[in-house]
Amino acid sequence: MGAIVDPRKIYTFEQMKVDIDCLCIKYPYLAKEIIGYSVEKRELFAIKLGTGSKNVLLNGAHHAREWLTTALLMNMIEYYCELVQLKADFRKLLQDVSIWFIPMVNPDGVTLVQTGSNLPFLRTLNNESDDFRAWKANIRGVDLNRQYPVDWESIDDQMKKPAPAMYKGAQPLSEPEVKALYQFVLEKDFCNAACYHSSGEEIFWKYKITGELLNQAKGLANDLAELTGYQLVEPDGEPSGGGFTDWFLMQMKRPSFTIEIAPYIGPRPVPITYFDQIWEQNKEVGIFLAEACLGT
Ligand SMILES: [Zn+2]
Repeated sequence: MGAIVDPRKIYTFEQMKVDIDCLCIKYPYLAKEIIGYSVEKRELFAIKLGTGSKNVLLNGAHHAREWLTTALLMNMIEYYCELVQLKADFRKLLQDVSIWFIPMVNPDGVTLVQTGSNLPFLRTLNNESDDFRAWKANIRGVDLNRQYPVDWESIDDQMKKPAPAMYKGAQPLSEPEVKALYQFVLEKDFCNAACYHSSGEEIFWKYKITGELLNQAKGLANDLAELTGYQLVEPDGEPSGGGFTDWFLMQMKRPSFTIEIAPYIGPRPVPITYFDQIWEQNKEVGIFLAEACLGT
């Protein structure tokens, strides 16, 4: 593992901030951007590696309890920075393609899961429990991966009000975290994307796509399945929208993948002891996406 990021501890927003600054000082070819702020005014960071005019995007921790995806992406950033110094062909790749990371989409939710809260309204949303480890939503009880403007109206909305998970919000893009990511994606013209989640060792790659995009996405999904060892998921029947990957596929008309990094472990954060295996399965994913971007 690298000298700066330690993914084998509870990886907090504050630690991420420190690590981002340390990485940017140590590796001048790394750049950080603040793309917006969370409800509680935490920075939403995007980290750019490379100078290429083409762009790929990896993001993590839409869901609060899935913060191990942040540790994974931060570790990936440091590993790729080290590779730049070691490998000429990787340096060459980064002249054509820039790899962007948004390691923590939901910093308020992650902080709630990790440190809890005494706020009465949060306790009420949490069924009067002090244990917030199962929380997935943002700090207003909106599920950020049910917020994107694709078939949002038709999302199964049994959850009618703010909750630890599943509430889609009063309207799409109502939450600042999603709005920031949405605008950032529209500005950057990414040729593909990966959205990290943490339960199921599966890859979602398909929404209502057809033709050339379907073929392209399927080809890449097969390669990603081989690379990671994860199973591909095909939605059955009428898929419900609202997720980042659904929206990216339909809006950008380019491939996007939701990658679930761990076996199903129930409603709680993935234990840190899973990290080493997850790392081995995912460390090449950013490079794979960048290579896939060449020639598009
Ligand atoms: Zn998730």
